Amino acid sequence: MALTIAQRQERQRVKQKEAMQRARDKQIAKMKDPAEKAKRLAKAKKKQDQRIAKICSPEYQEQQRKKALERAERAKAKQAAKPPAKRKATKGLKGRTALAEEQRVMDKIGTLPCIACLLHGRDNPIVSLHHVFGRTRIDAHKFVLPLCCWHHDTLPEKEQREQYPDLLPVHAKGKYGGKKQFSEHNGTELELLVKVYEMLGLSLEPLSQFDIIIPN
Ligand SMILES: [Zn+2]
Ligand SMILES: [Zn+2]
Repeated sequence: MALTIAQRQERQRVKQKEAMQRARDKQIAKMKDPAEKAKRLAKAKKKQDQRIAKICSPEYQEQQRKKALERAERAKAKQAAKPPAKRKATKGLKGRTALAEEQRVMDKIGTLPCIACLLHGRDNPIVSLHHVFGRTRIDAHKFVLPLCCWHHDTLPEKEQREQYPDLLPVHAKGKYGGKKQFSEHNGTELELLVKVYEMLGLSLEPLSQFDIIIPN
């Protein structure tokens, strides 16, 4: 007996469903296959190695340095073009100026590369000094961390973030960074301060007022 149109359509539908299931099973088997898994991992690893090699290459570093310099030049030119700012009544971001003793400590700390990058085995010599406790309290300028722009106040591109999950600016950018996220990957700012002081052979005395465990 000839099939009705509805029966034919139903049979067609069942066949399609079976074919799809077979394809899915095959895909799952492939995903589970250790050899295939190893292949995928190797491929991902290779890609990652290539990206790291690129970022570590002198050419890339040089390019980044040039870009940073150009940015600084542009900012300087922009600043020069601006009329002089009116004196503000408040101290604002600047806070009070560093005392000689604070300046001495700051200058030393400024010689270090990014302390967070260093923690992850990378050397990033272009830093700015992050004030951990603002700029007004006593000894405020002694509590500074040398941080690259990515660890300080600039959000890296997505690709770079994925490759270096620790690159979170301590000053939050949207949902990224901020003290908490930063410390999860890089230790707390105080822990880093202790590290900085130790590296420079500075007395830990100024830090003793904070609730930290100072290593012996
Ligand atoms: Zn850094
Ligand atoms: Zn800062």
